[in-house]
Amino acid sequence: MKQSQLFTKIRKEVPAGEVSKNAQLLIQAGFVYKEMAGVYAYLPLGWRVMNKIIEIIREEMNAIGGQELFLTALQSKEIWEKSGRWSDEVIDVWFKSQLASGTDVGLGNTHEEPITALMKQYVHSHKDLPVFAYQFQTKFRNELRAKSGIMRSREFIMKDLYSFCKNDQQHEKFYEECKQAYTRIFERLGIGDKTFVTFASGGSFSKYSHEFQALSDAGEDIIYLSRDKNIAVNEEVYNDEVLAELNLKKQDLEQHKAIEVGNIFSLGTKFSDALDLTYIDESGEKQKVIMGSYGIGPGRAMGTIVELCHDEHGIVWPESVAPFRVHLISLLKEGGGVADQMYKKLTDMGVETLYDDRDERAGVKFAQADMIGIPYRVVISEKTLEKNAVEVKKRNESEARLVLQEELYSLFV
Ligand code: ATP
Ligand code: MG
Repeated sequence: MKQSQLFTKIRKEVPAGEVSKNAQLLIQAGFVYKEMAGVYAYLPLGWRVMNKIIEIIREEMNAIGGQELFLTALQSKEIWEKSGRWSDEVIDVWFKSQLASGTDVGLGNTHEEPITALMKQYVHSHKDLPVFAYQFQTKFRNELRAKSGIMRSREFIMKDLYSFCKNDQQHEKFYEECKQAYTRIFERLGIGDKTFVTFASGGSFSKYSHEFQALSDAGEDIIYLSRDKNIAVNEEVYNDEVLAELNLKKQDLEQHKAIEVGNIFSLGTKFSDALDLTYIDESGEKQKVIMGSYGIGPGRAMGTIVELCHDEHGIVWPESVAPFRVHLISLLKEGGGVADQMYKKLTDMGVETLYDDRDERAGVKFAQADMIGIPYRVVISEKTLEKNAVEVKKRNESEARLVLQEELYSLFV
């Protein structure tokens, strides 16, 4: 894409009133637009990043047998009353409204109830199980505090997967596979070295849930990390009994602030009971379906990546999620002929390139490129042209090097 055509512009000032680093950087560099507190629109650069994150998650969910669907944001009161979760005392973040007829509706803040109700039409026999269904869907939550930028929004996309199994054994097997898939996802998102499986409260249906917590001072959670065992314990379940059970010693644990980027839950039969989801087993007996739910917020993941991957000049995107792979910067005064050709060749090769073809000073172009944070900066100028070369610098390295023009392309095959 030509930068002259990108309608978003880099802002000179850090946006006023933003306390979180991710929102400051993302707004300033034109990735997101703040509609109101806790509500963000994704602009072309930000939407590209979002889609990369989503695609990585999608690949990993498909790899463990997930089937993608798309439920509705509008929710009817009846099915939520069956589980007792229509009540504002049970779920305190509901946005509720009414149809023209006066019927109560809510905007989904999670989707256990509707997907369980839906499965009643398709799950009858043990042969119909297991089922693993997931979606990327907008959730609405009237969050009390929304000070963490895109990491805690009132409207956000969630990947939520729901598992339906015939027994505990089948459930445990999938739960473990999903845990592994989550580990791969955060690895691929470039935050694997900072993200740890964390034992957290399991709610009423199981002893623990597992959170994926990324170490960061911007986090809202406190965890206790064992580097040796590569696991952590959320402060909410940090007590002598739990430590003994997990074979952890207090003195070996580090206390950290952390961001919950993902959460997986065993639900037992809580929702299959409430909504009466059963199947007929091998011996003709009626049985309850065992469920689990598995969430990741791609927006929160994006905010976390920015919190963990930036320097004083701007964002430093991991290659896997960067909006473009190459930032081609032309400093040529006499038209852009050679740079234009280079842009065309890179694009034809399938290398995602942002081409700074604007008439701006070199210093401005470099500073703005650093803010945007694309992994490879390729500069072409009169000086480099004399040597039939371009200057290549990685965003996370300080030294640029000269690369012959014909050798440039082999860097990206
Ligand atoms: P938190 O404790 O941070 O409020 P939660 O435990 O309520 O989160 P879940 O219901 O487990 O969140 O949601 C699954 C995932 O969705 C979370 O791990 C997180 O990645 C993401 N998520 C949750 N709330 C938000 C939000 N307000 N904005 C953006 N992403 C969110
Ligand atoms: Mg959670």
